[in-house]
Amino acid sequence: MSECGFIGLGRMGGAMARRLIEAGHRVVAFDVSASACDALAAQGGSIASSARAVADTVPLVFLSLPNPEIVVDTMLGAHGAIAGERLEVCVDLSTSGPAAAIKLAAGLAERDIASLEAPVSGGIKGAREGTLSLMISGPQAAWRRVRPLLEIFGRPFFMGETAGAGQTMKLVNNLLGACAIAITAEGMTIGVKAGLDPARMVEVLNVSSGRSSATLDKWPRAVLPRTFDFGFASGLCLKDVRLCLAAARTLGVPLGVGTAVCELLERTVGTLGADSDFTAMTKIVESDAGLDPERPPP
Ligand code: NAD
Repeated sequence: MSECGFIGLGRMGGAMARRLIEAGHRVVAFDVSASACDALAAQGGSIASSARAVADTVPLVFLSLPNPEIVVDTMLGAHGAIAGERLEVCVDLSTSGPAAAIKLAAGLAERDIASLEAPVSGGIKGAREGTLSLMISGPQAAWRRVRPLLEIFGRPFFMGETAGAGQTMKLVNNLLGACAIAITAEGMTIGVKAGLDPARMVEVLNVSSGRSSATLDKWPRAVLPRTFDFGFASGLCLKDVRLCLAAARTLGVPLGVGTAVCELLERTVGTLGADSDFTAMTKIVESDAGLDPERPPP
C-alpha cells in the first residue's frame, strides 16, 4: 500500500482515484467541487482542504484538471502545491499540452520535484474499468517509481524523458479522434439524406475501410441512439484541438484538416454549449444539411 494525492475528482479523476482506493492505496484528495469530494469520501478517500494541503500530506500527487492554466496554477501558483512539505513527484493525468508540461517540469525542478506527464485516453469507461492508455514522459526514476500505480489505470507507454513528449502524443491522438467524428458526421449525413439506414451504414463501415473510433464506438453508443452522451465535453475537445494546433504551429506543421475540425468544434461549443458532448459535432453538420438534429432515433 502507498499513500498518494489526487487533485481533480471529475469524470476521469473521480474514477481513477476510486481505482487507487479499491487497489488498497490511501488517497488524499482535493477538488474545488464539494460534491466531487463527498463522492470520493464515500468511497473511502480522505479529503484535504486545498491542493497545497494534499502536497503537505503525501509525496506523490496525481492531477486530473480541466485545462493547462488550472494545472499550472494548482502546482506553481501563489497557493500552489509546489510548496507542499512532502511533495516529491507530480503526475499530470490531464490533457495539458506540451507548453504547460515544459513550464511545469521547469518550475517543479526548482524544488527538486519530479514532473511526469501521463495524459490518458479511453474515456470515462476506460477510467472506471482500468483500460486507459497512458502516454508518459519525464524522468526515468520517477517513471519507475510510479509505474505500478499507473498500471491500475490501464496501459502506460513511456515516450521518453523529454518534457512535452507525452502531451504531444496525446494531442495527436485527440486530433485524430476529433477528426474521425467530424468526417463520420459528414459521411453519415450524406447517407441519411440519400435515404440510407444509418445503423446499416455503421454496420458496413465497421467491416470496411471507412471504420474508425467514431464508427466503432461513438456512433453505436451515442449517435445512432441520438443520446449524444459519450462522456467527453465538446469544450474539452476544443481545448485539446486548439492545443494541438498551437503545438503544430510551433513545429511548423500546417493543419488544414485540423483547422476545419477546430472550426466545427467552435460552432458546436457556440451553439450547444461547452458541456455538450463532443459527438454533438454531428448535430451541426446535420443542421447545415437541413436535417433536424433533434429528431428521434429511427
Ligand atoms: P471534469 O470537468 O469532469 O473534471 C475536472 C475536475 O476538476 C472537476 O471536478 C472540477 O471541479 C475540478 N477542478 C477544477 N478546477 C480545480 C482546481 N483549481 N482545483 C481542484 N479541482 C479543480 O473533466 P474530465 O472529463 O474529468 O477531464 C479531466 C482531464 O482529463 C481534462 O484535462 C481532460 O481533457 C482529460 N481527459 C478527459 C477524458 C474524458 O473522456 N472525459 C478523456 C481523456 C482525457
